[in-house]
Amino acid sequence: MLKPNATGRPGQRIEDTITAILEEDPNQEELLLQKIKEGQIHHLEDGQIFSAILKVLTSVEICEQDSESIWNEIIKNKNQLSQCMNREVGFRVAMFDYFTNINQKIKNPKVIDMKLFADTEKLILVDELTRLYNRRHFETALVREFKQSTRYNQNLSLLIIDIDDFKKINDTYGHTTGDEVLTKVAKQITSFLRMEDTACRIGGEEFAVIFPQTNEEQAMIASEKLLEACRTIQLSGKSVTFSGGIVSYPEKVKSCEDMYDLADRALYTAKYSGKNQIVAYSNEKRSSLRFDANLELLFILPDKTLKTISKNISVTGIAFDTEDDITLNESFDVKLRESDSHQEINAKIKVVRKEEVGFHKYHMGAEFLELSSEDQSKLSDLYTLHRYKSKMSTSVV
Ligand code: GH3
Ligand code: MG
Ligand code: MG
Repeated sequence: MLKPNATGRPGQRIEDTITAILEEDPNQEELLLQKIKEGQIHHLEDGQIFSAILKVLTSVEICEQDSESIWNEIIKNKNQLSQCMNREVGFRVAMFDYFTNINQKIKNPKVIDMKLFADTEKLILVDELTRLYNRRHFETALVREFKQSTRYNQNLSLLIIDIDDFKKINDTYGHTTGDEVLTKVAKQITSFLRMEDTACRIGGEEFAVIFPQTNEEQAMIASEKLLEACRTIQLSGKSVTFSGGIVSYPEKVKSCEDMYDLADRALYTAKYSGKNQIVAYSNEKRSSLRFDANLELLFILPDKTLKTISKNISVTGIAFDTEDDITLNESFDVKLRESDSHQEINAKIKVVRKEEVGFHKYHMGAEFLELSSEDQSKLSDLYTLHRYKSKMSTSVV
């Protein structure tokens, strides 16, 4: 069951605060206004207080300026009605009368049970299977947290988690078991988080956690612990594993729009450098992600096929020497062959770096443009193999 504040900052949604106050006593509009005037809940949003109240009461979005004057007119109407009827008229009655008889901005105002409506509204934001917030909530929550962090000069971190080889889990154990794994992951995540963190299921087997007031180092520690707890989920005695990508504001990211993209890029790096690990986004080229590999390269050009050996390879591209004058920015298909494992990877690449180092001798750099998921997996396997080999050789030395 969804706990209203369990995965969000307490009192974070101004609509929740307003609904809670009004639920206590349906005629608490005066108290609400008083609290606003005293600044008790004013700090929660960018002065969007009147529009937030009208949103709760009417479920219609009205700009703040109009909302404030509508609010004042409703109060005026409330006083006039009370005088006419010689009894205290409640705010909502006055509001209903106002929208029906005075300002027909809202064509057919509905009388609604606010608690029921708030619960229904919340359901729209919750994923049915895992009971975590869904992607829709994730997007608004991230924007809200980012605003909050910039305003108060606080850190903010985002973690994206993707279950490793989930397709294989489904294929081996069936979709129902797959669903059970997803539910268990959600449980582990929720039981692990702090009150102020927000956990969401943002895709099939992809989850996001927003960590307010958390820098990269702290997010990394929390995420490692979180994934450690998730790895207790086992199938046939083997742990389910996860990859994660982290990005932190203001250390690595300056805009909210970039947050998801950069965390996703870090996740991509985690996947293609062996899976079962968390990577923090880094804007530096990571040499550790490059490995020296003498793979046979076959460049398939429209009119000829060229052969050479790679110098090093990374998750994003390859470096090689050649005696052929390949044009910069040219793109073409290439086959990479590993002699030991007889692996063959097909990719489309684009030449992005070219340095003439002698007579008809060039150092070249190319990036991968297209790689099928199968070829990405092979590349990831090669990376893991070479990482393992280099660890072995350094431990021998
Ligand atoms: P990787 O390690 O690279 O992430 O590989 P993967 O197999 O986890 O990723 P891929 O994107 O190839 O497959 C994801 C799978 O998740 C495919 C899809 O059928 C499955 N899936 C998505 N949503 C659900 C769901 O709600 N329930 C179940 N059981 N499976 C789902
Ligand atoms: Mg995925
Ligand atoms: Mg996956």
